[in-house]
Amino acid sequence: MMDFEKIKEVSDKAFFPTYNRFPAAIVRGEGAYVYDSTGKCYLDFLSGIGVTGLGHAHPGIVEAICNQAKNLVHISNLYFMPPQTELAAELTALAGLERVFLCNSGAEANEAAIKLARKYSNITHEEGRTEIITLEGSFHGRTLATAAATGQAKVKSGFEPLPGGFRHVPPGDFETLAAAVSDKTCAIMLEPILGEGGVVVLPDAFLQKVRALCDERDILLIMDEIQVGMGRTGRPFAYQWTGITPDVMTLAKALGGGLPIGAMLAREKYAPILSAGSHGTTFGGNPVACSAGLVVLAHLRDEAFLANVLKMGDRIRAGLNNLKEQFPFIETIHGRGLMVGMTLATPCGDMVRRAFEKGLLINCTRESVLRMLPPLIISEKEVNEMLEILISVFEDGI
Ligand SMILES: *Cc1c(COP(=O)(O)O)cnc(C)c1O
Repeated sequence: MMDFEKIKEVSDKAFFPTYNRFPAAIVRGEGAYVYDSTGKCYLDFLSGIGVTGLGHAHPGIVEAICNQAKNLVHISNLYFMPPQTELAAELTALAGLERVFLCNSGAEANEAAIKLARKYSNITHEEGRTEIITLEGSFHGRTLATAAATGQAKVKSGFEPLPGGFRHVPPGDFETLAAAVSDKTCAIMLEPILGEGGVVVLPDAFLQKVRALCDERDILLIMDEIQVGMGRTGRPFAYQWTGITPDVMTLAKALGGGLPIGAMLAREKYAPILSAGSHGTTFGGNPVACSAGLVVLAHLRDEAFLANVLKMGDRIRAGLNNLKEQFPFIETIHGRGLMVGMTLATPCGDMVRRAFEKGLLINCTRESVLRMLPPLIISEKEVNEMLEILISVFEDGI
């Protein structure tokens, strides 16, 4: 294997510079820990941005992947595949949404949702009822349409012209949203907790009003649960805290236990819209990814597993709240379950870098929000270890 300096040199030359990477090549992981090419150990409180929900090298995931790879790695969606069928049956049952389209990523799942909403409205209502309202600060992906849906300038800038028909309103402000709805609106798309937007939990009352408005006008409510879904909040899906059900839900990140897979789920009513030949994908619902996904779903049906998410989430928040007195630059602690945000009165990029040096992986969104997305299997010991490292980072100053 190349040594780290060589890896960095070759990478810096060969790749587009799309990522500001930390100076380490990660080669191995186990549970909540990963190891770099020099053997240094890191406590992973980011999980590949909410992907490895069961931690690294989870024995069940490894076994499912190996067994499926021995039988069949790929076949076209022109044929049935048992792991895909099982995943579809279990996912629709768990989500309370009858239909699913499987794809490879979050952006693709949101693309499918956007296409579904537009086609439904074009067929059912007057043509041209195609506008989709999303939230400022939201993140929905980096394809052209999902970048257009995203409420952050940095994702769109320079790539114009983007597909039209998206309109952004401030999160949590129902009056402004209701005023933006017109006879052109076909869907409202939102993350129940904005992830990249700074771990902003949308109030249940806001979501309930949005639901009622959508019902009244036959507008599709699309929930992007790509980051918050799959047990992250202590329930299988974050919408299950809110008292409402979306018409469409998108998933990806943690769905495949680390393998790339995405899903767009919707109510039975919308099934005929994506008719044969109207949408599809080569890799979507890959049997190896689906086999791993089945292991993840089995955990979401386990009460003790979900209880640990809530318990550890509470522990982290309590631990962080305890630091407020000692470190006055801490403003608020927010989030749900194991999706944790800590808003600081100062930019946090440098703190994240120092945490990395001390062996803790976390990240920073919106300049000044420290974000943690630990694996859902973390223990009290690992929470305590995180707090210790974080305190030492804070003690070194802002
Ligand atoms: C990560 C993310 C996406 C995009 O997923 P990709 O797999 O990177 O395309 C979309 N929406 C939300 C909320 C996300 O967190």
